Amino acid sequence: MFAAKALLERGVDVAVYEQALQIGEIGAGVQLTPNSLRLLERVGLLPEIERLGVAESPSSTYYRMDGTPVAPVVTTDSSGQYGVYGMHRADLLSILADSLPSDVINVGHKCVGLDQDDDGVRLSFANGATAEADVVIGADGIHSVMQKYVSEPSLPVDSGKVAYRGLIPAEKLPAWPANTFQLWMGEGKHFLVFPVRGGTQINYVGFVPSNEHAAESWSAVGDPAVLAAEFAGWDPRIEELLTQVETTFWWGLYDREPLQLWTNNRLTLLGDAAHPMLPHLGQGANQSIEDGAALAMLLAEADRSSAPRALVAYEALRRERTTAVQIGARANGLRYDSDYEDLGERDAEIAASKEFRLWVYDYDAELATSEEMAKHGR
Ligand SMILES: Cc1cc2nc3c(=O)[nH]c(=O)nc-3n(C[C@H](O)[C@H](O)[C@H](O)COP(=O)(O)OP(=O)(O)OC[C@H]3O[C@@H](n4cnc5c(N)ncnc54)[C@H](O)[C@@H]3O)c2cc1C
Repeated sequence: MFAAKALLERGVDVAVYEQALQIGEIGAGVQLTPNSLRLLERVGLLPEIERLGVAESPSSTYYRMDGTPVAPVVTTDSSGQYGVYGMHRADLLSILADSLPSDVINVGHKCVGLDQDDDGVRLSFANGATAEADVVIGADGIHSVMQKYVSEPSLPVDSGKVAYRGLIPAEKLPAWPANTFQLWMGEGKHFLVFPVRGGTQINYVGFVPSNEHAAESWSAVGDPAVLAAEFAGWDPRIEELLTQVETTFWWGLYDREPLQLWTNNRLTLLGDAAHPMLPHLGQGANQSIEDGAALAMLLAEADRSSAPRALVAYEALRRERTTAVQIGARANGLRYDSDYEDLGERDAEIAASKEFRLWVYDYDAELATSEEMAKHGR
């Protein structure tokens, strides 16, 4: 959706096809980080993010499972100009959807087929509709249908973990600190909390080991009692929070090995379809936004005949960074959950991971794209 906005801003005609009957989202949070906020600002969406999200304060902290503080959480880029915002996923989606002209999004269009030649691409949909375009961007998530038109499908890699996620009205936890991101780490598990929706709701995620993944259903309704039992004996603040959980959902956590190819002629992939990653850096959506900004700049300079070359340039520009973030997300999950003999070693690694965070947060996808375009005389 961000890619559509970025393309329209640059004068490229665009249509979005979404399989769902309406644009909506489950009740869960997502963090937006400086690397995407600077891009959202340039298309005029930062004020809405600030209105509906919650800027995380410098008192945000990593803890050991018993509540011993470990290190501060990085909550801005190096310049301090852009922060980190906790958002309700539905709010982010509606900000993006509302920013597009009403005829751009076509809901109820599940793409089931694609064929292309040198003149263009044709899509077919489960409802019988068809569409033609110069270029197709497959932004259809970790279960991407488009991926198989680009490279050998790779199987998702099961992390052996599930994430329990949900929201609690803030009024049920009046003593909970406002505006803070907090993350507790214990053997094989971690738990994080941040506020969303202007601070009126508290988003929690509990990551626990599991081998009961149903391959065909990657998210399901969870049992609050099972979740509470997983974190029994942890910091009493977590135990108290979990007494307030009425509904929870769990996700099997998967990623894939970095794909060999994202692009085939007039089709390219974006976001989780191109580089599904574990959520342990909170970067999946942020990287999708970076992808969209880079792709929009390159396509804005292309015409029908040069568009395939713009897609190749996009892939070349984005691959190294998204691979580093994919690998970094795996490493961060291991750091949070590993059974360290010396917790001091883990704590030092957490403090040192600030450097990688700042590398992620300081990146300007548009600046990187314009530098690359200049190098190639575009
Ligand atoms: C527990 C957890 C926590 C997370 N926390 C964060 C976070 O804090 N920050 C962050 O940046 N990321 C986070 N993520 C990752 C983030 O949710 C994803 O990376 C992000 O949603 C990917 O966006 P996307 O647009 O590529 O794919 P998706 O959000 O999966 O969107 C794909 C869209 O394509 C549609 N679609 C699929 N197939 C078809 C089809 N055949 N035809 C038409 N439409 C189709 C789907 O209905 C969907 O609307 C988290 C993930 C999890 C599991």
